[in-house]
This record gives sequence, C-alpha cells and structure tokens, in this order.
Amino acid sequence: MKSRQIESGLELIARLPEQWAAEATRLGGRSFHGKQIFRWIHARGVVDPLEMTDVPAALRARLVEEGLGSVATIAREQRAADNTRKLLVSLGDGANVETVLIPRAKSAELPSPVALANDANDNAGDADAAAAVDDEEQAPEDEASALIPVTQCISTQVGCAMGCAFCASGVAGLKRHMRTDEIVSQVLVGRSRLDPGERLGNVVLMGMGEPLHNYDATARALRLLTHPDGIGLSTRKVTISTSGLVPEIARLGKDFGGQIGLAISLHAADDETRSRLMPINKKYPLAELMKGLRDYPLPRRRRITIEYTLVAGKNDTAEEANKLARLLRELPVKVNLIPMNPIAASALGPPALEGVLAFQRVLCDAGYSCFIRRRRGDDVAAACGQLALCGAKPKVRVHR
Ligand code: SAH
Ligand code: SF4
Repeated sequence: MKSRQIESGLELIARLPEQWAAEATRLGGRSFHGKQIFRWIHARGVVDPLEMTDVPAALRARLVEEGLGSVATIAREQRAADNTRKLLVSLGDGANVETVLIPRAKSAELPSPVALANDANDNAGDADAAAAVDDEEQAPEDEASALIPVTQCISTQVGCAMGCAFCASGVAGLKRHMRTDEIVSQVLVGRSRLDPGERLGNVVLMGMGEPLHNYDATARALRLLTHPDGIGLSTRKVTISTSGLVPEIARLGKDFGGQIGLAISLHAADDETRSRLMPINKKYPLAELMKGLRDYPLPRRRRITIEYTLVAGKNDTAEEANKLARLLRELPVKVNLIPMNPIAASALGPPALEGVLAFQRVLCDAGYSCFIRRRRGDDVAAACGQLALCGAKPKVRVHR
C-alpha cells in the first residue's frame, strides 16, 4: 500500500479538498464525498478508508485500492517528567524522524535559571527552542479555554544537508527530503497522542531538517495544516525555523503574505564566526540575510524570532552580544538564547551560567526582548535529531 503511494507519487494525504472532490468523482463517488474524505483525514485523523463510515462502501473500497492509509507510525514514545513527549516516527521506507509535543508549562513549574544552567549535561535539544517561539505570548482564547495548548515540533527532512557544527542532524547529513504527506502525518499522529485536557496550539518546523531546503513539500504541508476544514491551525500558530536560505525566505513571505511565523537560527553576529558554525553562511552571508529579514512582509506587531545557540568559546562573549545588538538594530525581533545541548558527535558545549546571563544582560540593556530558554523534557529529549539518529554512525568532524 505504502510503496504504491511512493511509486505513483500520489501522496493521497497531501491532497486538498478540491483535489479530493475530483478524485472522488473519478472513483465513482460524488464530489462532496471528497470533502468528507478530507475531513476524515485532517480534521479527525482517520486515514483508514474502512473507518470512514459516511463514505459509500464502494468508494471506500476504491480508496483502499488506491492505497490510502498511514504513511507514518510511532515507533517509540518517551515522556519526560514535565510531560514533554518525544515521538520517534517511522516512515514507509524505514527512515525515522522525530516530533516533540511540548505542553505549555504552568509558570510555577518553570525551573530557575540556576537550575537550567547548572544542568549542563542534559540534552533537551530543539524542544527548548520549539517551546520558546511564542510561549510568552498568551493568546486570549487560551485564557478562556481550560485546555492546555501543546506546541508540536515537527521534522521536514531525514537528516539535514546544512552541516551546522553543533547539531546532530547536521553532523549526520541529509538522508532524504520528507514528502508533504509525511510532514503532515507527524501532526496527525502527534495529535492522536495528546492527553485529555490538551489541545494542539502551535506547530513549529524546528525538528530534523531545514524546512526551506525542502520548500515545495513544506509549503504544501503549511497549506494543509492551516486549511480550515482540516487541522485548521491559524497561520499565526505556525512557525518555520530556518538557518537562513535567503531566496526561500522571500518565497515564503510572498506565498503566505508574511503570515507564517519566522524564526532565524542566527548563532553569530559576524560572518567569520557564523560561517564556522553554520556553513550555509558562506552562501548567504549576514548582510544578505539581514536584507532578507527586512524585506519579509511581517504583519504589524509581529516579530521575527532570533535563535542564538550559545556555544562555549565560539560565540558567547559580551563583545559578541554587543555585535548582535548592533546587527539586529531596526529589526522587529525577539531573541531566544539557547545554551547548546551537548551532542555525541562533537566536543562543543554550553557556556557557564554567568556567561549566559552576561550575554542576556547586554541584549536587554540594548532594549531587546531576550529570553534564556529553559530546558523542557530533560529526561527524554535529545538535541535536534539525536533520538532519530540513535545508533547512526556520525561522520568524523573536526571543529576549529
Ligand atoms: N534547520 C532549521 C530548523 C531545525 S533546527 C534551523 O536550523 O533553524 C532547530 C533549532 O535547534 C535551530 O535554532 C538550531 O540551531 C537548534 N539546535 C540544533 N542543535 C542544537 C543543539 N545541540 N543545542 C542547541 N540548539 C540546537
Ligand atoms: Fe540543519 Fe538546522 Fe541542524 Fe543546521 S541547525 S544542521 S540547518 S537542522
């Protein structure tokens, strides 16, 4: 069933309602059945045609023949003490990616900054950054609702081609792009694992992979995730994190009118340092990236999130904080500082607490909203890509 989908490129789960309407007619049903099928898949998370009870039996049988079924299954689920869940998702060809469910923490549960920074040996990874995107921006409906909003962090590629020095996915390299149906299916299976009393609040594309390197599949996934007849997320509730592929940032801005949230993995404020940590900077240096951010059609009152992973001895001095403050001047941003989570394949690590606080102080004094990101899911979560890469052999790397 799955191999047929891959071979034929049908990607049934990637279809929009109008495509399902045409397909339903082609398969002998009526066009309104198409909308029903779309709703079963995306609003209710049911991908087995035999469970689509209001679809005529003959059409259900045709959908089985066409190969409609699941393209992603949960191979492992790990739950942390703070209820963050890391899911290892198995794709049709045996490739694994990870997705993380991060319930909004009650403020009383937040660890103190000291606890955060003293715990330098954990490996909380992208969950920190993912939870951080907008959790200080409590939407009004959240107060009204008794349900706990959960941020889901999803992957867009198996591995990553960008080769960032501090990142497990980067060290492993790109295995392949994910298809749209695979990207969306992570949200379908993740949503099925929500606890009673939780609801899906945000989706952040901050898992394995560089979403803008897989632009077409990612953009289509965004259309599906935000479709009102399906999962129905508001575009405001979806954030793409990118290492800075400038032409694709422009394309995203144009295709979605700037409505999709943007998080930029900056990690350095000068080209030399950034190119050392993030090879993509050689292709799109800071001046180009900054211009791309200025040109992004950001709606009023919204800000770009700047992610800055602090790596001891590489990008963490007060001088670098000052440089960052100068670089970001005039841009509508908030800054998230993430002490690096150690990864197996690298000797790099986070700075000591004093360094993290001093870095933050410089940015706060310069007038920025600057947050140190707490670690979520300490006891289960691994740095970006680590869970999915368990057992994978990292390439040997030398860090300057
Ligand atoms: N490729 C995209 C999205 C996935 S990475 C990007 O780079 O933005 C999501 C975030 O996790 C990025 O900001 C990345 O820099 C950060 N990250 C990766 N490995 C990390 C680590 N070991 N410690 C801290 N942050 C890490
Ligand atoms: Fe890829 Fe992002 Fe990791 Fe860099 S930080 S290697 S772009 S996943």
